[in-house]
Amino acid sequence: MQDDLTTDLSILESHLDGMLGRIHENSLTLRRFQLFEKKLLSLNSLSEMVELILTDAREFFDLDVISFCLIDEKQELAGYLAEDGYKASSHPGLVFLRDKELLRATFGFAILPYLGAWKSAKCAEFFPNLEKKIASVAIIPLTRRGKYLGSLNLGSFDPVRFVDSMATDFVEHMASVVSMCLENHLNFEILRRTSLMDTLTGVNNRRFLEQRLGEEIDRSQRSAEPLTCFFLDIDFFKAVNDRHGHQIGDQVLALVAQTVREQLRNNDVLARYGGEEFVALLSNIDEVIAVDIAERIRSKIKTLEIDCGEEKQFITISIGVATYVPADEAMHDTKEIAESLIHCADDALYQAKHSGRDRVICSGIISDNRQRASKKAI
Ligand code: GH3
Ligand code: MG
Ligand code: MG
Repeated sequence: MQDDLTTDLSILESHLDGMLGRIHENSLTLRRFQLFEKKLLSLNSLSEMVELILTDAREFFDLDVISFCLIDEKQELAGYLAEDGYKASSHPGLVFLRDKELLRATFGFAILPYLGAWKSAKCAEFFPNLEKKIASVAIIPLTRRGKYLGSLNLGSFDPVRFVDSMATDFVEHMASVVSMCLENHLNFEILRRTSLMDTLTGVNNRRFLEQRLGEEIDRSQRSAEPLTCFFLDIDFFKAVNDRHGHQIGDQVLALVAQTVREQLRNNDVLARYGGEEFVALLSNIDEVIAVDIAERIRSKIKTLEIDCGEEKQFITISIGVATYVPADEAMHDTKEIAESLIHCADDALYQAKHSGRDRVICSGIISDNRQRASKKAI
Protein backbone atom coordinates (compact mmCIF):
# COMPACT_ATOMS: atom_id res chain seq x y z
CA MET A 1 0.00 0.00 0.00
CA GLN A 2 2.74 2.37 1.10
CA ASP A 3 4.74 1.42 -2.02
CA ASP A 4 1.77 2.08 -4.32
CA LEU A 5 1.26 5.53 -2.84
CA THR A 6 4.98 6.33 -3.19
CA THR A 7 4.91 5.25 -6.85
CA ASP A 8 1.77 7.33 -7.53
CA LEU A 9 3.35 10.31 -5.86
CA SER A 10 6.53 10.10 -7.89
CA ILE A 11 4.47 9.72 -11.09
CA LEU A 12 2.43 12.80 -10.15
CA GLU A 13 5.61 14.70 -9.30
CA SER A 14 7.13 13.89 -12.67
CA HIS A 15 3.89 15.01 -14.43
CA LEU A 16 3.97 18.18 -12.41
CA ASP A 17 7.63 18.75 -13.33
CA GLY A 18 6.74 18.23 -16.99
CA MET A 19 3.83 20.65 -16.76
CA LEU A 20 5.89 23.25 -14.92
CA GLY A 21 8.55 22.84 -17.61
CA ARG A 22 5.94 23.40 -20.30
CA ILE A 23 4.55 26.45 -18.47
CA HIS A 24 8.05 27.88 -18.19
CA GLU A 25 8.77 27.20 -21.87
CA ASN A 26 5.47 28.76 -22.94
CA SER A 27 5.99 31.84 -20.83
CA LEU A 28 9.46 32.24 -22.37
CA THR A 29 7.94 31.94 -25.86
CA LEU A 30 5.27 34.47 -24.94
CA ARG A 31 7.89 36.87 -23.56
CA ARG A 32 10.04 36.49 -26.69
CA PHE A 33 6.99 37.02 -28.79
CA GLN A 34 6.00 40.18 -26.91
CA LEU A 35 9.53 41.57 -27.25
CA PHE A 36 9.54 40.85 -30.98
CA GLU A 37 6.12 42.45 -31.37
CA LYS A 38 7.29 45.55 -29.49
CA LYS A 39 10.31 45.82 -31.75
CA LEU A 40 8.19 45.30 -34.86
CA LEU A 41 5.80 48.08 -33.88
CA SER A 42 8.62 50.54 -33.27
CA LEU A 43 10.16 50.30 -36.76
CA ASN A 44 10.36 53.29 -39.07
CA SER A 45 10.64 51.82 -42.54
CA LEU A 46 10.03 48.85 -44.79
CA SER A 47 13.77 48.12 -44.94
CA GLU A 48 14.00 48.00 -41.12
CA MET A 49 11.08 45.60 -41.10
CA VAL A 50 12.61 43.27 -43.69
CA GLU A 51 15.87 43.30 -41.76
CA LEU A 52 14.11 42.48 -38.45
CA ILE A 53 12.21 39.59 -39.97
CA LEU A 54 15.10 38.05 -41.86
CA THR A 55 17.72 38.35 -39.13
CA ASP A 56 16.32 39.08 -35.67
CA ALA A 57 13.21 36.90 -35.99
CA ARG A 58 15.34 33.90 -36.84
CA GLU A 59 17.25 34.26 -33.58
CA PHE A 60 14.21 35.31 -31.53
CA PHE A 61 12.29 32.18 -32.42
CA ASP A 62 15.27 29.90 -32.76
CA LEU A 63 14.54 29.03 -36.37
CA ASP A 64 16.87 27.26 -38.79
CA VAL A 65 15.57 29.11 -41.85
CA ILE A 66 13.27 32.06 -42.39
CA SER A 67 12.13 33.69 -45.60
CA PHE A 68 9.75 36.52 -46.38
CA CYS A 69 7.61 36.76 -49.52
CA LEU A 70 6.24 40.12 -50.61
CA ILE A 71 3.69 40.71 -53.35
CA ASP A 72 5.25 43.25 -55.71
CA GLU A 73 2.95 43.61 -58.71
CA LYS A 74 4.59 46.81 -59.98
CA GLN A 75 8.13 45.59 -59.32
CA GLU A 76 8.99 48.61 -57.25
CA LEU A 77 9.75 47.24 -53.79
CA ALA A 78 13.41 46.47 -54.49
CA GLY A 79 13.75 50.13 -55.55
CA TYR A 80 12.07 51.38 -52.36
CA LEU A 81 14.44 49.26 -50.28
CA ALA A 82 17.48 50.37 -52.29
CA GLU A 83 16.64 54.00 -51.55
CA ASP A 84 16.99 53.14 -47.86
CA GLY A 85 20.33 51.49 -48.57
CA TYR A 86 18.92 47.93 -48.35
CA LYS A 87 20.22 45.71 -51.13
CA ALA A 88 17.45 43.16 -51.68
CA SER A 89 19.56 40.96 -53.99
CA SER A 90 22.04 40.18 -51.22
CA HIS A 91 19.30 38.73 -49.00
CA PRO A 92 18.28 35.37 -50.43
CA GLY A 93 15.43 35.05 -47.90
CA LEU A 94 13.56 37.96 -49.45
CA VAL A 95 11.26 36.85 -52.28
CA PHE A 96 9.25 39.19 -54.50
CA LEU A 97 6.11 37.70 -56.04
CA ARG A 98 4.62 39.25 -59.18
CA ASP A 99 1.09 38.14 -58.23
CA LYS A 100 -0.86 36.26 -55.57
CA GLU A 101 -1.24 32.95 -57.45
CA LEU A 102 1.34 31.00 -55.42
CA LEU A 103 -0.25 32.17 -52.16
CA ARG A 104 -3.77 31.40 -53.33
CA ALA A 105 -2.75 27.88 -54.34
CA THR A 106 -1.02 27.30 -50.99
CA PHE A 107 -3.53 28.74 -48.55
CA GLY A 108 -6.81 27.98 -50.33
CA PHE A 109 -10.08 29.84 -49.85
CA ALA A 110 -9.92 29.65 -46.04
CA ILE A 111 -6.47 31.30 -46.11
CA LEU A 112 -5.01 28.92 -43.52
CA PRO A 113 -1.29 28.56 -42.70
CA TYR A 114 0.48 25.42 -43.87
CA LEU A 115 2.31 23.57 -41.08
CA GLY A 116 3.93 20.23 -41.71
CA ALA A 117 6.56 18.21 -43.47
CA TRP A 118 8.65 19.74 -46.26
CA LYS A 119 7.15 18.98 -49.66
CA SER A 120 9.16 20.24 -52.58
CA ALA A 121 6.18 20.98 -54.80
CA LYS A 122 4.47 22.97 -52.07
CA CYS A 123 7.40 24.64 -50.31
CA ALA A 124 10.33 25.15 -52.69
CA GLU A 125 9.18 28.50 -54.08
CA PHE A 126 8.90 29.92 -50.57
CA PHE A 127 12.47 28.96 -49.69
CA PRO A 128 14.78 29.71 -52.63
CA ASN A 129 18.57 29.21 -52.39
CA LEU A 130 18.45 26.70 -49.54
CA GLU A 131 21.90 25.51 -48.49
CA LYS A 132 20.62 22.58 -46.41
CA LYS A 133 17.43 20.59 -46.78
CA ILE A 134 14.74 21.51 -44.26
CA ALA A 135 12.38 18.95 -42.75
CA SER A 136 9.34 20.90 -41.55
CA VAL A 137 7.84 24.27 -42.33
CA ALA A 138 5.26 26.83 -41.26
CA ILE A 139 4.14 28.96 -44.19
CA ILE A 140 1.95 31.73 -42.88
CA PRO A 141 -0.18 34.03 -45.05
CA LEU A 142 0.09 37.79 -44.58
CA THR A 143 -3.17 39.50 -45.45
CA ARG A 144 -4.95 42.76 -44.73
CA ARG A 145 -8.55 43.57 -45.54
CA GLY A 146 -8.83 40.34 -47.52
CA LYS A 147 -5.84 41.21 -49.70
CA TYR A 148 -2.62 39.19 -49.86
CA LEU A 149 0.53 41.11 -48.94
CA GLY A 150 2.87 38.13 -48.85
CA SER A 151 3.85 35.28 -46.53
CA LEU A 152 6.15 34.57 -43.63
CA ASN A 153 7.95 31.27 -44.02
CA LEU A 154 9.58 29.43 -41.14
CA GLY A 155 11.70 26.33 -41.68
CA SER A 156 13.31 23.76 -39.37
CA PHE A 157 15.74 20.85 -39.78
CA ASP A 158 13.67 19.10 -37.11
CA PRO A 159 10.83 17.09 -38.73
CA VAL A 160 8.52 17.60 -35.74
CA ARG A 161 9.16 21.29 -35.11
CA PHE A 162 6.15 22.19 -37.27
CA VAL A 163 3.39 19.62 -37.50
CA ASP A 164 -0.12 19.69 -38.85
CA SER A 165 -1.77 19.24 -35.42
CA MET A 166 0.07 22.16 -33.84
CA ALA A 167 -1.94 25.07 -32.48
CA THR A 168 -1.40 28.05 -34.75
CA ASP A 169 -2.65 30.86 -32.47
CA PHE A 170 0.86 32.17 -31.90
CA VAL A 171 1.92 32.22 -35.53
CA GLU A 172 -1.42 33.57 -36.68
CA HIS A 173 -1.24 36.35 -34.14
CA MET A 174 2.31 37.14 -35.23
CA ALA A 175 1.18 37.11 -38.88
CA SER A 176 -1.58 39.62 -38.17
CA VAL A 177 0.85 41.99 -36.44
CA VAL A 178 3.42 41.57 -39.26
CA SER A 179 0.65 42.18 -41.84
CA MET A 180 -0.53 45.33 -40.12
CA CYS A 181 3.01 46.73 -39.92
CA LEU A 182 3.71 45.73 -43.51
CA GLU A 183 0.58 47.45 -44.77
CA ASN A 184 1.54 50.61 -42.84
CA HIS A 185 5.05 50.69 -44.28
CA LEU A 186 3.82 50.02 -47.83
CA ASN A 187 1.20 52.76 -47.56
CA PHE A 188 3.77 55.14 -46.19
CA GLU A 189 6.15 54.42 -49.11
CA ILE A 190 3.36 54.93 -51.66
CA LEU A 191 2.27 58.16 -49.98
CA ARG A 192 5.84 59.42 -49.80
CA ARG A 193 6.27 58.81 -53.50
CA THR A 194 2.95 60.17 -54.73
CA SER A 195 3.37 63.32 -52.65
CA LEU A 196 6.65 63.97 -54.46
CA MET A 197 5.51 63.07 -57.97
CA ASP A 198 3.81 65.02 -60.69
CA THR A 199 0.92 62.82 -61.77
CA LEU A 200 0.62 64.19 -65.31
CA THR A 201 4.23 63.72 -66.39
CA GLY A 202 5.46 61.00 -64.00
CA VAL A 203 8.55 63.01 -63.04
CA ASN A 204 9.09 64.52 -59.60
CA ASN A 205 7.35 67.68 -58.46
CA ARG A 206 8.65 71.00 -57.16
CA ARG A 207 8.42 69.89 -53.53
CA PHE A 208 10.80 67.01 -54.24
CA LEU A 209 13.16 69.39 -56.07
CA GLU A 210 13.21 71.75 -53.10
CA GLN A 211 14.10 68.86 -50.79
CA ARG A 212 16.80 67.48 -53.05
CA LEU A 213 18.39 70.77 -54.06
CA GLY A 214 19.79 71.38 -50.55
CA GLU A 215 21.00 67.77 -50.32
CA GLU A 216 22.69 68.02 -53.72
CA ILE A 217 24.46 71.26 -52.78
CA ASP A 218 25.69 69.73 -49.50
CA ARG A 219 26.91 66.71 -51.42
CA SER A 220 28.63 68.92 -53.99
CA GLN A 221 30.44 70.77 -51.17
CA ARG A 222 31.47 67.58 -49.39
CA SER A 223 32.80 65.95 -52.55
CA ALA A 224 34.10 69.18 -54.10
CA GLU A 225 32.27 68.30 -57.32
CA PRO A 226 30.28 70.69 -59.52
CA LEU A 227 26.48 70.66 -59.63
CA THR A 228 24.59 71.76 -62.73
CA CYS A 229 21.03 73.04 -62.92
CA PHE A 230 18.92 73.18 -66.09
CA PHE A 231 15.81 75.32 -66.37
CA LEU A 232 13.78 74.03 -69.32
CA ASP A 233 10.69 75.64 -70.86
CA ILE A 234 8.68 74.51 -73.88
CA ASP A 235 8.53 77.25 -76.52
CA PHE A 236 5.16 78.69 -77.53
CA PHE A 237 3.34 76.03 -75.59
CA LYS A 238 0.24 78.18 -75.22
CA ALA A 239 -0.12 78.00 -79.02
CA VAL A 240 -0.09 74.16 -78.85
CA ASN A 241 -2.99 74.27 -76.39
CA ASP A 242 -4.84 76.89 -78.38
CA ARG A 243 -4.46 74.97 -81.59
CA HIS A 244 -4.96 71.38 -80.52
CA GLY A 245 -6.66 71.59 -77.13
CA HIS A 246 -5.51 70.92 -73.57
CA GLN A 247 -5.61 67.15 -73.94
CA ILE A 248 -2.97 67.18 -76.65
CA GLY A 249 -1.13 69.80 -74.59
CA ASP A 250 -1.08 67.37 -71.65
CA GLN A 251 0.27 64.60 -73.89
CA VAL A 252 3.03 66.92 -75.11
CA LEU A 253 4.00 67.74 -71.53
CA ALA A 254 4.25 64.04 -70.64
CA LEU A 255 6.23 63.27 -73.80
CA VAL A 256 8.68 66.12 -73.22
CA ALA A 257 9.20 65.05 -69.59
CA GLN A 258 9.82 61.45 -70.65
CA THR A 259 12.24 62.53 -73.41
CA VAL A 260 14.26 64.74 -71.06
CA ARG A 261 14.29 61.96 -68.44
CA GLU A 262 15.73 59.53 -71.00
CA GLN A 263 18.62 61.89 -71.70
CA LEU A 264 19.60 62.08 -68.03
CA ARG A 265 21.27 59.57 -65.73
CA ASN A 266 19.18 57.62 -63.21
CA ASN A 267 20.44 59.62 -60.26
CA ASP A 268 19.91 63.03 -61.90
CA VAL A 269 16.86 64.86 -60.62
CA LEU A 270 14.10 65.95 -63.00
CA ALA A 271 11.13 67.88 -61.64
CA ARG A 272 8.18 69.70 -63.13
CA TYR A 273 8.66 73.17 -61.74
CA GLY A 274 5.28 74.47 -62.88
CA GLY A 275 3.14 74.65 -66.07
CA GLU A 276 5.48 73.76 -68.96
CA GLU A 277 8.70 74.35 -67.04
CA PHE A 278 11.06 71.70 -65.77
CA VAL A 279 14.22 71.80 -63.66
CA ALA A 280 17.00 69.21 -63.76
CA LEU A 281 19.91 68.76 -61.33
CA LEU A 282 22.98 66.96 -62.60
CA SER A 283 25.59 66.07 -60.01
CA ASN A 284 29.28 66.09 -60.87
CA ILE A 285 28.67 67.64 -64.27
CA ASP A 286 30.75 70.67 -65.19
CA GLU A 287 29.68 73.51 -67.45
CA VAL A 288 31.16 72.12 -70.65
CA ILE A 289 29.58 68.69 -70.36
CA ALA A 290 26.35 70.30 -69.11
CA VAL A 291 26.03 72.32 -72.31
CA ASP A 292 26.55 69.16 -74.39
CA ILE A 293 23.80 67.39 -72.50
CA ALA A 294 21.45 70.39 -72.78
CA GLU A 295 22.11 70.55 -76.51
CA ARG A 296 21.37 66.84 -76.82
CA ILE A 297 18.04 67.37 -75.05
CA ARG A 298 17.18 70.38 -77.24
CA SER A 299 17.91 68.42 -80.44
CA LYS A 300 15.93 65.40 -79.27
CA ILE A 301 12.86 67.50 -78.43
CA LYS A 302 12.99 69.05 -81.91
CA THR A 303 12.65 65.63 -83.50
CA LEU A 304 9.49 64.69 -81.56
CA GLU A 305 6.50 64.36 -83.80
CA ILE A 306 3.30 65.11 -81.95
CA ASP A 307 0.37 63.06 -83.14
CA CYS A 308 -2.57 65.41 -83.58
CA GLY A 309 -4.58 63.97 -86.42
CA GLU A 310 -3.75 65.02 -89.96
CA GLU A 311 -1.40 67.80 -89.00
CA LYS A 312 2.14 67.25 -87.85
CA GLN A 313 3.16 69.33 -84.89
CA PHE A 314 6.75 69.87 -83.82
CA ILE A 315 7.93 71.66 -80.72
CA THR A 316 11.12 73.25 -79.45
CA ILE A 317 12.52 73.91 -76.01
CA SER A 318 14.72 76.60 -74.46
CA ILE A 319 17.20 75.73 -71.74
CA GLY A 320 19.03 77.87 -69.18
CA VAL A 321 22.12 76.31 -67.62
CA ALA A 322 23.91 77.24 -64.38
CA THR A 323 26.74 75.35 -62.68
CA TYR A 324 27.77 75.59 -59.04
CA VAL A 325 31.44 74.94 -58.32
CA PRO A 326 32.18 74.72 -54.59
CA ALA A 327 35.18 76.67 -53.32
CA ASP A 328 37.96 74.83 -51.51
CA GLU A 329 37.67 76.74 -48.27
CA ALA A 330 34.69 77.33 -46.01
CA MET A 331 31.23 75.92 -46.63
CA HIS A 332 28.65 78.53 -47.56
CA ASP A 333 24.98 78.84 -46.89
CA THR A 334 23.12 76.06 -48.71
CA LYS A 335 19.86 78.01 -48.99
CA GLU A 336 21.60 81.00 -50.51
CA ILE A 337 23.45 78.83 -53.06
CA ALA A 338 20.23 76.97 -53.93
CA GLU A 339 18.41 80.23 -54.61
CA SER A 340 21.32 81.56 -56.61
CA LEU A 341 21.58 78.39 -58.73
CA ILE A 342 17.88 78.38 -59.63
CA HIS A 343 17.88 82.13 -60.18
CA CYS A 344 20.88 81.99 -62.54
CA ALA A 345 19.45 79.09 -64.56
CA ASP A 346 16.11 80.92 -64.80
CA ASP A 347 17.93 84.09 -65.85
CA ALA A 348 19.74 82.16 -68.58
CA LEU A 349 16.41 80.71 -69.73
CA TYR A 350 15.02 84.23 -69.94
CA GLN A 351 17.96 85.17 -72.15
CA ALA A 352 17.32 82.11 -74.33
CA LYS A 353 13.69 83.14 -74.79
CA HIS A 354 14.61 86.71 -75.64
CA SER A 355 17.29 85.78 -78.10
CA GLY A 356 14.97 83.69 -80.24
CA ARG A 357 14.04 80.48 -78.30
CA ASP A 358 15.06 76.90 -79.28
CA ARG A 359 18.50 77.42 -77.72
CA VAL A 360 20.72 76.73 -74.75
CA ILE A 361 22.16 79.65 -72.79
CA CYS A 362 24.75 79.16 -70.11
CA SER A 363 24.70 81.49 -67.12
CA GLY A 364 28.31 80.73 -66.21
CA ILE A 365 29.75 79.44 -63.00
CA ILE A 366 28.38 80.20 -59.57
CA SER A 367 30.98 79.77 -56.92
CA ASP A 368 30.95 80.40 -53.17
CA ASN A 369 32.64 83.77 -53.69
CA ARG A 370 29.96 84.74 -56.20
CA GLN A 371 32.32 85.12 -59.18
CA ARG A 372 30.25 84.53 -62.27
CA ALA A 373 31.31 84.39 -65.83
CA SER A 374 29.26 86.34 -68.34
CA LYS A 375 26.35 84.68 -70.07
CA LYS A 376 27.21 82.73 -73.16
CA ALA A 377 24.89 81.83 -76.00
CA ILE A 378 25.66 78.43 -77.42
P1 GH3 B 1 7.26 80.81 -74.25
O1 GH3 B 1 7.93 80.36 -75.49
O2 GH3 B 1 7.55 82.24 -73.94
O3 GH3 B 1 7.54 79.94 -73.09
O4 GH3 B 1 5.70 80.78 -74.55
P2 GH3 B 1 4.63 79.80 -73.93
O5 GH3 B 1 3.40 79.91 -74.75
O6 GH3 B 1 5.18 78.46 -73.78
O7 GH3 B 1 4.46 80.41 -72.50
P3 GH3 B 1 3.22 80.96 -71.72
O8 GH3 B 1 3.71 81.20 -70.33
O9 GH3 B 1 2.61 82.12 -72.45
O10 GH3 B 1 2.19 79.78 -71.73
C1 GH3 B 1 2.36 78.62 -71.01
C2 GH3 B 1 1.14 77.78 -71.26
O11 GH3 B 1 1.27 76.50 -70.60
C3 GH3 B 1 -0.13 78.38 -70.74
C4 GH3 B 1 -0.87 77.27 -70.05
O12 GH3 B 1 -2.15 77.14 -70.53
C5 GH3 B 1 -0.06 76.05 -70.40
N1 GH3 B 1 -0.08 75.05 -69.35
C6 GH3 B 1 0.39 75.16 -68.09
N2 GH3 B 1 0.17 74.01 -67.42
C7 GH3 B 1 -0.46 73.17 -68.27
C8 GH3 B 1 -0.96 71.83 -68.14
O13 GH3 B 1 -0.86 71.17 -67.11
N3 GH3 B 1 -1.53 71.27 -69.24
C9 GH3 B 1 -1.66 71.97 -70.41
N4 GH3 B 1 -2.22 71.37 -71.44
N5 GH3 B 1 -1.22 73.24 -70.54
C10 GH3 B 1 -0.63 73.84 -69.49
MG1 MG C 1 6.90 78.13 -72.57
MG1 MG D 1 6.83 79.09 -68.98
